[in-house]
Amino acid sequence: MKNWAGNLKYSARAVERPSTLGELAGTVEAARKVKPLGSLHCFNDVADTNGIHVMLDGLGGSPEIDSTSRTVRVPGHLTYGALAQYLQQHGWALHNMASLPHISIAGALQTGTHGSGVANGSLSSAVTAIELMRATGETDRLEAADGGAFTGSVVGLGALGIVTSVELVIEPSYEVSQHVFENLPWDTALEHFDEIAASAYSVSLFTDYQSIGQVWLKARTGDDNASAAPTFYGATAATTARHPLPEMSGENCTAQFGIPGPWLERLPHFRPEFTPSNGDELQTEYILPREYAAAALETLRSFAGRVAPLLYASEMRTIAADDFWLSPAFNRDSVAFHFTFKPRQSDVEALLPEIEAALSPFGARPHWGKLFASGSSDVAPLYPRFTDFRDLAQAQDPDRKFRNEFLDKILGE
Ligand SMILES: Cc1cc2nc3c(=O)[nH]c(=O)nc-3n(C[C@H](O)[C@H](O)[C@H](O)COP(=O)(O)OP(=O)(O)OC[C@H]3O[C@@H](n4cnc5c(N)ncnc54)[C@H](O)[C@@H]3O)c2cc1C
Repeated sequence: MKNWAGNLKYSARAVERPSTLGELAGTVEAARKVKPLGSLHCFNDVADTNGIHVMLDGLGGSPEIDSTSRTVRVPGHLTYGALAQYLQQHGWALHNMASLPHISIAGALQTGTHGSGVANGSLSSAVTAIELMRATGETDRLEAADGGAFTGSVVGLGALGIVTSVELVIEPSYEVSQHVFENLPWDTALEHFDEIAASAYSVSLFTDYQSIGQVWLKARTGDDNASAAPTFYGATAATTARHPLPEMSGENCTAQFGIPGPWLERLPHFRPEFTPSNGDELQTEYILPREYAAAALETLRSFAGRVAPLLYASEMRTIAADDFWLSPAFNRDSVAFHFTFKPRQSDVEALLPEIEAALSPFGARPHWGKLFASGSSDVAPLYPRFTDFRDLAQAQDPDRKFRNEFLDKILGE
């Protein structure tokens, strides 16, 4: 079996699809090595194992809304798309979505997946409780009152157990309208990045590091914003539907031109019925303190010539700080530099160490689900609670059932 991008063949010796939690517990207890798979959208081997892969879609289950506490309890294997549909049908919403709705909730949370917005935390920031099946087959429920056991587990890289369900904050359903502007002047982006990033509920800048080709503004209906104007900081309103990748059709993307629509049909860039992004691609992303946005953008400009032959598109987004130990936005209001590369893995992998060295003075943390070159000695100093996480993983999984090559590289032997 391969991952979604097709750049990785998993090395599991068997795949199991339990249909009850009891069956799952039996598999986990008996396995020497075991790993849950979500929707296979990671570009690296974070989800790989040489033991047994468990796919949880056979467990079924549906969301349970608690309108008093404004939370939803949801099976971890459900996709954000399925949850969003359910919430919308019942008049509720999530605070944010990633660029695509196709990903599993547990898989997205475990890698610190995020959308955009200066006041929007990562998708993990909506978690109020998490249920984890441990290596023994027993299940723990953790919530904020459990302190480090909880804040260490929400972004857990699959190292602490199998997420069987999570509880997420919800809010009444809302509408969003989306506008795309083109050709934002480079110097304006540098000078006004903070105002631009804060100018709508969710803002994305797309660049090839020579120019800022597109700005996507997603505004909640009723918010005061300038997005309906014909120009935006010198950029001009797009006249046809746009795709972040210039050669792809805007048809694949959520509605633009300021037409209001439900949050779930505007916050992701890509519509659920189409292949998101290009499909034949690789991704990398670095997350760093927001105050370095302009300096990092200017630094990356020096890579423009070398990046260009490999790049489909690059996106800048913002993420509000959270307190999950291994979240790339831990304790830092952040800016994220995302790269969608062509499927030229050896060329991409040759370039990444240089990009990482250039971004290192800014304390750039790699996205856990995308390609990066750093190892334990690079990432450990970037996370103040890294050692606590390693201890937690060791305590919860002393026989290292959930460990794989990725975790050995990141957590160290
Ligand atoms: C086209 C595209 C667009 C993307 N856009 C964004 C974006 O906008 N923002 C962003 O931040 N990222 C984005 N990503 C990256 C993506 O969100 C992450 O890689 C995410 O982890 C994918 O979730 P998944 O369910 O496919 O995870 P998988 O690859 O299946 O698994 C990821 C990790 O989670 C673990 N896991 C899965 N299920 C469970 C479980 N039940 N319990 C415990 N651990 C589990 C796995 O073992 C593995 O360690 C994008 C990826 C693609 C392909």
